[in-house]
Amino acid sequence: MPTPQEAIKTGIGNPFAVREKIEAAAKEGFTSLTEDDKFLAKWYGLYTHRNEPGYFMLRLKIPGGFLSSAQMKTIAKIAAEQNKDFADLTTRQDIQLHWVAVKEAPWILETLKEAGISTLGACGDVMRNIVGCPVAGVDAREYFDASPVLQEASDFFLGNVEFGNLPRKYKVSIAACRDQCQQPEIQCVSFVGAERRVDGGAQLGFDVQVGGGLSTKWYFGQRMNAFVRPEQVVPVLKAITEVYRDALEYRNSRSRARFKYLVADWGIDKLKQAVQAKLDFPLEEMGPYEEPADSYKDHVGVHEQKQPDLFYVGIPVPVGRITGKQMRKAADLAQTYGDGTIRLTVRQNLLLLNIPKDKVAPVLEGLDSVGLNVNGSPILRGVLACTGIEFCRLAVTETKARALEIVEYLEGRVLLEEPLRIHVTGCPNTCAQSPIAHIGLQGSRATVEGRSIETYDVAVGGQLGRDRAFNRFLIRKIPATEIKSRLERLLLEYKRLRKSGEAFNDFCRRIGDEAVVKLLAPPEKPSDRSW
Ligand code: SF4
Repeated sequence: MPTPQEAIKTGIGNPFAVREKIEAAAKEGFTSLTEDDKFLAKWYGLYTHRNEPGYFMLRLKIPGGFLSSAQMKTIAKIAAEQNKDFADLTTRQDIQLHWVAVKEAPWILETLKEAGISTLGACGDVMRNIVGCPVAGVDAREYFDASPVLQEASDFFLGNVEFGNLPRKYKVSIAACRDQCQQPEIQCVSFVGAERRVDGGAQLGFDVQVGGGLSTKWYFGQRMNAFVRPEQVVPVLKAITEVYRDALEYRNSRSRARFKYLVADWGIDKLKQAVQAKLDFPLEEMGPYEEPADSYKDHVGVHEQKQPDLFYVGIPVPVGRITGKQMRKAADLAQTYGDGTIRLTVRQNLLLLNIPKDKVAPVLEGLDSVGLNVNGSPILRGVLACTGIEFCRLAVTETKARALEIVEYLEGRVLLEEPLRIHVTGCPNTCAQSPIAHIGLQGSRATVEGRSIETYDVAVGGQLGRDRAFNRFLIRKIPATEIKSRLERLLLEYKRLRKSGEAFNDFCRRIGDEAVVKLLAPPEKPSDRSW
């Protein structure tokens, strides 16, 4: 068998084969594993912690964010017994557990497996958790319920050796809602619900977008002008993934190994031809396609479902960090008052579905009792944060605690009417999806009076949807302790000067970058500085 590095270069080898070795080594504290074996532990969702030898982060795979109350209780139990009693909800509708002691890993993996939760391919150079619409099947406006297709695709790729060694991580979304909250523009491949007019009638299926991605170089996906029927999704996704897997030129350098570079280099026509050559049916044309102007939707609050008398409750979970007590309570409420259906969103939030109208009040009361309030402020609703320096080896700054500090400060000082997306990311890898935020804060560092301090680079103006735009870096290296007051000034001016109904991005565009920079500039008196 080739070494992992050789396998990565050539596209052969089976990273999943190392499982038994990992399990055996985990019982002895991982001492018998080579560095390559530890690298392959990612294929089981296990990442080493930044500073704590012997501990891992464990990412669970929750396809489409679909979870039952029983599964959530299992996760809460593991969190309580092994993981300092908390978990993090992620931007791929996943859950991450921290402080997993290596010796406990086999027991935890087994417990999760018994609960029907896999960690296989949650990290590593494979297809990551497929994201979808968290209200699939209950949203009155959806084209159709795409969750069975999402599950089928997820099952096909889960632990599939043929696709166990892609050039790099690979991200897919499948959803058929009209709001496009699954963020198709920033996925490697997206199947986006669509309606096509054929012979005067309507046909439902998916429009396909390819080549989106963030990290250090940002790309929006491009439409393939292909219409895919629900039953064609798996073969089309398989064909696209084979093209990526077998393009050996994208294995020469890890920084160029992303699907977005292949799409940018090849162009849609060449990619489409390569995909078509692998299919035994013709790819049909999609034609014109409608997109929402701004696809932001956080599902927070109480909303009617398409099923009569049933509601879903969307709970903002600040920066995605949830305690064991909160998980247990949410699971209990879902089970007692609903049918136990829970969903996770790409905004690091939680939904309880199928709650009868007369049970909404006790659900809200129960959530409130553990500090989960559905009436989160627009600033709290819109905040996202990556793992940051607390656990991530690549981070240069704190993120979650800093984001909460910013939220708490701004909530009391700037009253906004609509959600404001502030995404806090601890390094240029942008795991908190900072490039699509209204205000993206990217961790950096500066030396001040001989001391290295945490700073943030500030970018403004990002959004998805028809009017998609990545945000623009306007000012660099603002000391982390000053960020909240600098943002306060910008947001108060936005409130004071905005035209009726003017969105934050439109306001920034209207006053111009120079004016925004002035509002974010340092306070005039040096004594005002807090570092
Ligand atoms: Fe870590 Fe950087 Fe990703 Fe944040 S953006 S989780 S700091 S790699």
